[in-house]
Amino acid sequence: MRLEGIHHITAITGDAPRNVDFYVGVLGLRMVKKTVNFDAPEVYHLYYADERGSPGSVLTFFEFPGAAPGRAGDGMVHRIGWRVAGEEALDFWTGRLDAEGHATQRADGSLRFRDFEGLEHELVVAGGEDPPLLAESDDVPADHALRGFDGVRAYAHDPSAGARLLEELALVPEGEGRWRAQGAQRHALYGHDPSPPERSVQGAGSVHHVAFASRDEDHAEWRLAATRGGARPTPIIDRQYFRSIYFREPSGVLFEIATLSPGFDVDESIDSLGEALALPPQHEHLRPQLERTLTPLPAPRTGRTR
Ligand code: ZN
Repeated sequence: MRLEGIHHITAITGDAPRNVDFYVGVLGLRMVKKTVNFDAPEVYHLYYADERGSPGSVLTFFEFPGAAPGRAGDGMVHRIGWRVAGEEALDFWTGRLDAEGHATQRADGSLRFRDFEGLEHELVVAGGEDPPLLAESDDVPADHALRGFDGVRAYAHDPSAGARLLEELALVPEGEGRWRAQGAQRHALYGHDPSPPERSVQGAGSVHHVAFASRDEDHAEWRLAATRGGARPTPIIDRQYFRSIYFREPSGVLFEIATLSPGFDVDESIDSLGEALALPPQHEHLRPQLERTLTPLPAPRTGRTR
């Protein structure tokens, strides 16, 4: 039994329209779901991904309008890695991000930058072993597009504390604090870095949790594996597009394990993903109110506010 890499990564934004502008308009991802936080339905939960909303490419944001800036520290994911095809793609992104006013840091085979709220991303040139997960964008040629997650890195003051749990989750140590979730279809890396002295602050531009992907038939078994690893997983929770369990990795990072099914086309067609406000049955009665109070967003396919 193996996890199929990362399913999704969830972060926090204080500004949903600018968030759409950046992730769709600049990074060229597709908005695949516009819904609300199921646990706090007065605010958005926005999902960006490849063209089909494939696990492995799904970056999501809880919107807390006007949220104070967060700061990645001990027990938090501080960097999100994405794969790109080659050095030419890094050249493209260096130019594109510069034109958009985002500073970049180029190294051999990688490019780091931050979004408008300080969330750090790294594009890495990765081999072609996993099928690329591409979104279609007028401004980003397919050759240069993001191809899905490579992994995440988190701050941990005692990385060895997580070893027993990560082993139970069938992650394989690769050295340099890095662990590999190698599924049959996809893989992803989970890494630890030494924590900075400053305390972590959950806020705008910070990562809330990382979700690994499970085949549906393995999901209950992963819950037992997490327990064996010393974690205290939640019961299985229905998240409409997947089913999930949540628990903390000993460093403090919130982990989720989400099923590959049913997927984001369970309540709208692939062609129209992200266009309408999607609400789960328990919140459907809030629709008239939410359509009045939620922040208006830019067009889902172009993302641009300016
Ligand atoms: Zn999640």
